[in-house]
Amino acid sequence: MTRIFLLALCLALAAPAAPAAWAQPMVSQVRIGEHPDKTRFVMELSEAPRYRVFTLADPFRVVIDLPELRWAPGRGEGDQKGGLIAAMRFGLFAPGTSRVVLDLSAPARVSRVFVLPPTGNYPYRLVIDVVPVSRASFLAARAAPIVSDPPLDPASSAVAVPPQPEADERRTIVIDPGHGGIDPGSRSLTGVDEKNIALAYARALRRQLEAGGRYRVVLTRDKDIFISLRDRFGLAERVAGDLFISLHANNHDSPRVRGASVYTLSEQASDAEAEALAAKENKADIIAGINLAEQTEVVSKILIDLAQRETMNLSKQFANGLVGELGRVTKLLGNAHRSAGFAVLKSATVPSILIEIGYLSNQTEERLLRSKKHRIGVSRAIGAAIEAYFERQTSLNRT
Ligand SMILES: [Zn+2]
Repeated sequence: MTRIFLLALCLALAAPAAPAAWAQPMVSQVRIGEHPDKTRFVMELSEAPRYRVFTLADPFRVVIDLPELRWAPGRGEGDQKGGLIAAMRFGLFAPGTSRVVLDLSAPARVSRVFVLPPTGNYPYRLVIDVVPVSRASFLAARAAPIVSDPPLDPASSAVAVPPQPEADERRTIVIDPGHGGIDPGSRSLTGVDEKNIALAYARALRRQLEAGGRYRVVLTRDKDIFISLRDRFGLAERVAGDLFISLHANNHDSPRVRGASVYTLSEQASDAEAEALAAKENKADIIAGINLAEQTEVVSKILIDLAQRETMNLSKQFANGLVGELGRVTKLLGNAHRSAGFAVLKSATVPSILIEIGYLSNQTEERLLRSKKHRIGVSRAIGAAIEAYFERQTSLNRT
């Protein structure tokens, strides 16, 4: 085939998907206006959006749900703050639903939401006015969401449970790339988000495990989308997982700190650092604008019964072996197996561990975390630990 023909073929094959991508509505700009009586948040959009706007307390947030949108504002535009708005985030919240979360510096209520049609150089604009209120009146008001007419479709679940294959003897490994969508996790020195590092390592680990043909591998997410902590371990239970591995990258105030570490669930944290880390990781749902009042059991204290205890013992066994394997391919934190109340590790039936692969705040380690070679090395180490763990289970069952 000639090159020109190949090119034409490629274009022909690519063509059907292209119009949909171009047609996806887009946010082109966001801005904050500070007024004496209110803070105004404006989003410029390629079309008039359906929306659902609501507020949450503790911490105080405004949540704006929109159809799935492409986010095109320039670099740094999402870092704006002003008036009542202390920070903002944008990302995919659920299939078909994009979300903006505005962190508020004080209790506030949404006084008006409206859409302006295009005029002059301006495209469609979604305008949201926020006015300060007292904490007491915020809590008393229990304001209903402000919705467009016609309303936005309700958010569907991002979790797709794969069908259970019949007569599949293979063990099921559930890999959980931390964060995603509207929750970016930590940010690296070069501006890479933890969510993207976690997904790259999850895919590398899947490749490693599937290559041997011995494992069925399920990812909690395979794209840049938010999944609640409960849905993550809930999926592990629904697919009858044999192991749940949550992948993360850490951050430290001191740029010198580096090393991988492995965490299991415990009522009492092994140390203050592990406790602080669990508290930080447990904030994922808050960052994504989830109303925790509706699901307090996820972050409330861990109730440990007999079944959970058995699962926790298995988690610990796997973690200990994993620390040994990881130590061959990467530097470890002192006492590299630690424990605390991580909400994502709360499955009562699936042995679960969380790996902080390294520190995004350390220059050497940040470079390693982004390298393919390191991804492969870490994946092999995890694979070896998985193998050793199941071998031990099998031999224990035999005796
Ligand atoms: Zn994390």
